[in-house]
Amino acid sequence: MGKNLGFMGIAAAALAGCAVTNASYDPAPIVLGSPAPAANNYTSAARAPLHAELPACNRGAGSNLGPIGARGEAVLYTPYIFTAAGPLLRNPTEAACLSSGFGWRGTADGGGRQHNGLDLANPNGGYIYAAGDGWVRSAEWQGGYGLVLEIEHGEGVVTRYAHLNEIDPNLHSGIFVAAGAPVARMGATGNATGVHLHYEVIVDGLLVDPLTYGVAAPDAPIS
Ligand SMILES: [Zn+2]
Repeated sequence: MGKNLGFMGIAAAALAGCAVTNASYDPAPIVLGSPAPAANNYTSAARAPLHAELPACNRGAGSNLGPIGARGEAVLYTPYIFTAAGPLLRNPTEAACLSSGFGWRGTADGGGRQHNGLDLANPNGGYIYAAGDGWVRSAEWQGGYGLVLEIEHGEGVVTRYAHLNEIDPNLHSGIFVAAGAPVARMGATGNATGVHLHYEVIVDGLLVDPLTYGVAAPDAPIS
């Protein structure tokens, strides 16, 4: 039991710092004292770094780098989105560049389509972290999105992580995940042209831009 205290301590501290207790979502009960997750790379990995600057991967034709245009090379931001469910990381990767922003992605022939998330790329992969406290909604293959993890944060807030190489095998529907905990690894599963995370933030059923949505929470606790 003594070995489990560290994990439980982290979960309890994260819960204390965020408004998940009023969540409208009714997840499977988390029973404190239940078996700790099996030790693996995820249980020993460092928690999320707090990125505040995101370099552009490229500025070639066809890229969609929305907010980067004004500054040129990179977008600056506060690390968190403040939501009714608590703070969420705007960039839940270990290290990445922005290869595609949120919004319309045009093509040379005048066509295009809406891109409802951020593409955060790194050819070397790396860890993906829970953007905020929440419960696993699903961890499964979703067609062109490849291997996908969805986390329910309560108050109508959901985050979605697509094209994953792997999800922590300890995670399945109803499991609590603490903000900043490593939960998956970046990959190129499904319809992906390179190793990247397709990251979506959903608020009350609407997909929002993770880089610009909401009021910044610069001093929100992550650990
Ligand atoms: Zn994408």
